[in-house]
Amino acid sequence: MTVGLDHRKLYRLPWTLPDNSIAWLEPTMKCNLACEGCYRANVNQHKPLDEVAKELDVFQRYRNVDGISIAGGEPLTYPHVVDLVRMVAARGWKPVLNTNGLLLNEELTRDLKKAGLAGFTFHIDSKQGRPKWKNKTEREHNALRLHYAEMVARVGGLSCAFNSTVFEDTLDEVPDMVAWAQEHIDIVHVMVFICYRAAVLEGDFDYYVGGDRLDMTDLAYAYSVPEHRTDIRAPDVVEKIREREPDFAPCAYLNGTEKPDSFKWLLTTRIGTKDRIYGYHGAKMAELAQTLHHLRHGKYLAYAHPRVLRRGRSMLWLWPFDSGIRRTAARAVRDPRVLVRRLYQQSIMIIQPVDIFADGRQNMCDGCPDVTVFEGRLVWSCRLEECLHFGAFASTAPKARPGSHPANRDN
Ligand code: SF4
Repeated sequence: MTVGLDHRKLYRLPWTLPDNSIAWLEPTMKCNLACEGCYRANVNQHKPLDEVAKELDVFQRYRNVDGISIAGGEPLTYPHVVDLVRMVAARGWKPVLNTNGLLLNEELTRDLKKAGLAGFTFHIDSKQGRPKWKNKTEREHNALRLHYAEMVARVGGLSCAFNSTVFEDTLDEVPDMVAWAQEHIDIVHVMVFICYRAAVLEGDFDYYVGGDRLDMTDLAYAYSVPEHRTDIRAPDVVEKIREREPDFAPCAYLNGTEKPDSFKWLLTTRIGTKDRIYGYHGAKMAELAQTLHHLRHGKYLAYAHPRVLRRGRSMLWLWPFDSGIRRTAARAVRDPRVLVRRLYQQSIMIIQPVDIFADGRQNMCDGCPDVTVFEGRLVWSCRLEECLHFGAFASTAPKARPGSHPANRDN
C-alpha cells in the first residue's frame, strides 16, 4: 500500500487480456518527430492496409474492446489513415487517433470525423523537439494544447485527450497542466500522464531470451545510462498534483502483474466548471460506469462521448450510490451558480509502465489496455521492439553480485 492511496479502497478496473476497453494498432513505423521516451524506432515504413486489416482480425478473434487506439509511429503520416478509421468504425469500434498533431488541420479533422473517428489523444510535451517549441516549458506548451483542443471543439462531437510523458524535471509542471485542463474542462476531456521508463543497460540487470544474453543496444528505449530518472511512479504524480489540489482523489486503478498494490493505470474523474472543481467520482461511480456500459454494450467503456461528459449535473443524482458523488453534490447544492452553469466531467489517467524488481521480475500492466499484434498474437505495445528484434520479450536477471541473493532483496 502506498501512503494516502489504498488500492483496496479504489475500484479495480475490470480490464483483462480478452475483455478490455481498448487495443493498440500500429499502421506505420514512420514518425515526423523524435520524442524522448518513445518506445518505437522511427522507420520509414507503412503497413499495407490489408495487413492492418489482418491485425484487426486478431483483435476481433481474441479481444473484446470498445476503442482502437490508432498509433504508430505517427498515424497521420499513414497514407490510408482516413480509410483505416472508416475500417475500424465499420467493425463497431471507436477509432481514436494517438497523434502528435503536426499534420492535422481542421479539414482533415472533419474528414476523419466523417469516416467515424471517435476522438484524438494528442501527445504533446516539452521533450518532443517540435519545430518552434524547443526549450519551451510544459506551461508554455499549454498554448499548443489549446490550439488542438479548440480545433477539435470547432468540429465537435469528438473526444479530446492529451498525453504527456513525465520526467523528473517536468514533474513539477504537472499541476500546471492539470490546472490548464480545468480551465478548458468544456473541451478537454482527458489528461494522461505517463511516467518515463527506459531499459537501462549498465544498471542492475542483464537481458535474456531463453538462455541467450541479449545485446539490447539497438532498442529505441535502451540506454547505457538514461539521462532521466526511470523510477517515477503514479503515486509521485498524485503527490505532486495534491500539492496544488489537496482533494485530488483517484477512484480506480489497474494493478501490476507482479505487485497487486501498484498503480499501473490510475484513474481520477472530477466534476466541475472552469472555475471550480466540486468533487471527484468515487470507486462505486467508476464501477457503475464500466459495469453499466458492459451490460448495455457488451464491452468496457473507452472514451465517453463529449455529450455524456457535459452531463455533470445529472451525475449528481447518483449520490445514493457513491460517496464521492455525495460529497460533490453536497458542495454543488450550496453554490447557486450550479443552477445556471453546466457541470463537466473530466478524467486524469496516470500510467506507470514496466517496473523491474530487484529479483528480475517485471511488473507490467495487468491485462494491458495497450496490447498490440505481433505475428498473430497479442503483445505489450510498449515492448514491441523486443519482439521485432528477438522474436520474444526479454526477461531480466540481476547481474551477479557477490554475497547477495536477489530473492532476499526488497521490491
Ligand atoms: S504493459 Fe506496456 S503497453 Fe501495456 S498498458 Fe502497460 S505500459 Fe502500455
